[in-house]
Amino acid sequence: MSFFNPIMSDPQLAIPKRVQTDIARAVSQKLMGQGSKRYLFFMCFMLTGIILIGSTLYLLNAGNNANLYIILLWSIGLPIAGVIQAYIYLHFGYIPQLRRELHDRGYDICLNCSYVLTNLPSHQTDCPECGTQRTPITAH
Ligand SMILES: [Zn+2]
Repeated sequence: MSFFNPIMSDPQLAIPKRVQTDIARAVSQKLMGQGSKRYLFFMCFMLTGIILIGSTLYLLNAGNNANLYIILLWSIGLPIAGVIQAYIYLHFGYIPQLRRELHDRGYDICLNCSYVLTNLPSHQTDCPECGTQRTPITAH
């Protein structure tokens, strides 16, 4: 799973492999526990299906070269749709939830850009990477 998690495998955080697995599991569970997020991902998936199947049905009735266009549609459309869906899931779901989880577990990272904030002087109240206000670590 660490292949998908460059944030967790950051050597500055030094998170043991076993803990990384725990964190990844907790993030997935929390993400799927959020009804609105789950609904968003489901709607993206449904919309892609409706567009692809709808276009196929349209092309079937269009006549000439229908098979060629349908093959082109699926061989180009499906990978593009997959990349867009993966982006939506990671950008709006997994990555923000992962940052929140790491922060809750006492790893001092920026909630906006994942920059590791450990060893920064205490008077520095914003992230040096993106300028977002730091959220203090409460538990460890
Ligand atoms: Zn930042």
